[in-house]
Parts: sequence; C-alpha cells; structure tokens
Amino acid sequence: MATINENYLKLKAGYLFPEIGRRVREFAQANPEKEIIRMGIGDVTQPLTPTVIKAFHEGVEEMGNISTFKGYGPEQGYDFLREAIAKNDYQSRGVHISADEIFVSDGSKCDTGNIQEVFGSNNKIAICDPVYPVYADTTVMSGKTGNCGSNGYFEGIIYMPCNEQNGFLPELPQERPDLIFLCFPNNPTGTVATKEYLKTWVDYAIQNHCIIFYDAAYEAFITDPAIPHSIFEIKGAKNVAIEFRSFSKTAGFTGTRCAFTVIPEELMAFDAAGKPHRVKPLWMRRHTTKFNGVSYPVQKAAAAIYSEEGAKEVKEVINYYLENARIMLESLTEMGFKVFGGINAPYVWVKTKNGLTSWQFFDLLLNESNVVGTPGSGFGPAGEGYFRFSAFAERENVVKAMERLRRM
Ligand SMILES: *Cc1c(COP(=O)(O)O)cnc(C)c1O
Repeated sequence: MATINENYLKLKAGYLFPEIGRRVREFAQANPEKEIIRMGIGDVTQPLTPTVIKAFHEGVEEMGNISTFKGYGPEQGYDFLREAIAKNDYQSRGVHISADEIFVSDGSKCDTGNIQEVFGSNNKIAICDPVYPVYADTTVMSGKTGNCGSNGYFEGIIYMPCNEQNGFLPELPQERPDLIFLCFPNNPTGTVATKEYLKTWVDYAIQNHCIIFYDAAYEAFITDPAIPHSIFEIKGAKNVAIEFRSFSKTAGFTGTRCAFTVIPEELMAFDAAGKPHRVKPLWMRRHTTKFNGVSYPVQKAAAAIYSEEGAKEVKEVINYYLENARIMLESLTEMGFKVFGGINAPYVWVKTKNGLTSWQFFDLLLNESNVVGTPGSGFGPAGEGYFRFSAFAERENVVKAMERLRRM
C-alpha cells in the first residue's frame, strides 16, 4: 500500500495569493468598468536588460553549432559564472568567498527549501514572523513540526516575532534553535540589518553551534553603504552561515531562473556522536545527485550582469523600482500612515489605520480605490494589521495608485 508523507497534511492551504486572486476576480466581474492597479505580487515587471538578452542569444546560438554545443554542464555551475560571482559579489567587498564555495541553481526558493535535507530531522528551526512562507512550509514538509495551532503557529518551530517594538528585527530567541532563517532586506517588511545587528546573530550562532540560513534575495536594493550585502561581511560568519542569493529580483530573472547558494569551506555541523563534519561536501553530494545544472544560455545571461554595461543596466532597473518605493513611502507617510521599509528594499510595509485587520484594509483598498496590495497577515500572525505594497510596478501605476489612496 502506497502511503503519503503525512507532514503534507499539516500544511495550511496555499491561502494568500489564491485568496487575493479570488477577491480581485470577483470585484472585477462586478465592476467591469473599474481599472484595477495591482501592487500585490512579489514579481518583477521590467524586462531583462539588453546586455543580458544579448548574452542569452549568444548562448542559444552556441547551442545550435556543433563546435560550441554543450551537453550537461557542471551541476554546481559553470566556472565563468561562479568566478564572476565570487569576484563581483564578494571579493570586491573584501569578503573571501571563492568560486568553489558557490553552487549555482535554478532558484533560491528551491535552495532555501532543499537545504534542510542535509541536516538532521531533530534540528530545531527558528523562523521570523512575518516572513516568506517557504521556510516554515518546507520545515513542516521535512517532518520537524507538529500540527498548526489555532494561533497560526506550527508546534515545534521557534517563531521570532518582528513588530514595531523591535523595529521588525527579531530578537535572539529564548529557546535555543539549531538552524535559523534570516532574510534581509526583508520580505515582506522591507527592513534591513546593520553590521552590528547581524554580528549579534553571528556571535550567538558561534556560541550555540547554530547555523544561519541567510536569504539575501534583495541585497541589490541596498543603497546605504553602511548596510552589509552579505552575512559574510561579518567576522566569523563563514563558520556559521549559508547564504542564498538570486538573479530573480537583482536582474529580473524570475521567469528565466538562476540563483546561487554559498556554503563556506569551514562550515561544520555535527553527527549524533558530536563529531564535526563539513557541510559543503554534503550539499555538493545532494546537488550533484538531484540536480543537473542550470541551462548554459541562462548562466551566460546571468554572468552578463557582471560586465560593465550589464551592471549599469541592472542598476538602472533597481533604481527604477527604488524610486517607486520612495514615491509610495513618501505618499503614504503624507497620508498619515505609519510606514516601514521601502528604502533599501522594494517593499513598503504599512500599518493599517483605525485598527483594521489586514484583510479589511485589503477590501477597503480594492473597493474604494481599486488598488491591490498584500495583506500582512498572509506572511504570519504577527503581520496582522499590516499591509505590503510592492514597488515592482509601472511608475504611472504607482503614481496613480497613490493619488487614488489620497482621495480615499
Ligand atoms: C523572490 C524571493 C526569492 C527568490 O526566489 P527564486 O526562486 O530565486 O526566484 C528568495 N527569497 C525571498 C524572500 C524572495 O522574496
């Protein structure tokens, strides 16, 4: 008799985006004359840049020519891309990461979900609330939790509330975790971590033999020179952290698919007898067994963002989104909202007024100004009473949406 992984039954239905879709559809059907502005999804809107497209085309041409055709590539990525990443994303910032500590993949979603496979099922996981839902859901799938309580929390996960009091920066947990997910700049709150703040986590992880999973998917949006782009900018982090990066938000690759994970040579975890083992070879084993590499033209396209012209173009697109965020931040503040994020991040995190719940605010916004955002409660119980606006939108729509909100 075939049985299922019953951990899947513990998961809550993928509720947030389907529910947003349902409410927007119903509204559109009832009000066909209304023009709806969508600022709800965390997906980019600007196309791939010319330099990326040129490299992408060249890669495709090479695949059609017998002298340059490529079959399977190295599972962990072509050297030209891994070296470009090591040099431009790390060494240029004084961080000693080498190409062979970099694993190229088809997405950070997969990597942040799959990483738990090389760690024991008895690990305690700490997760921020609210946050990107992948960390909690994959923890549930891997069998490390009990059921979900009526408070929205899974038994067995250490939740770290992020709220106005702590500036949306989680405090060190009371109960000691083994594995800790952190995400900065944060989705959904748009907050960033200073070096001093990250150092408290690195020091904690060193003292307590924890490993930090650091999701830096939005590092390209950091403009403040004092804010670290990588956790490896913190002394000692190479002993206790894994970093996830993606070309998705950096260069518009959400539909093209390319990302990478950095596992330092010196990172160790322990067996049941307390003997340390290097984590990198375990991930290498997993990656080469279960993954056959990102397609060559895509890796070539990704590497193009490190050329002088490519870097300039990508930065222009990032600045376009950041200007959208600035407009929203300024407008919403003028309207008397309490607003967070939106400076070194593409997300603006807004406190609803008059004690409205996230979904009440969603309905109000949809009905009165025909603007769609994302209810904060969809990212975790502590997100209740907040709302996320995404800067991934056309400028004229951002301006129009803010005008409509002002009139509301
Ligand atoms: C968008 C996003 C990613 C990127 O995922 P990909 O699979 O690389 O597209 C990773 N982490 C967070 C928090 C994100 O919002």
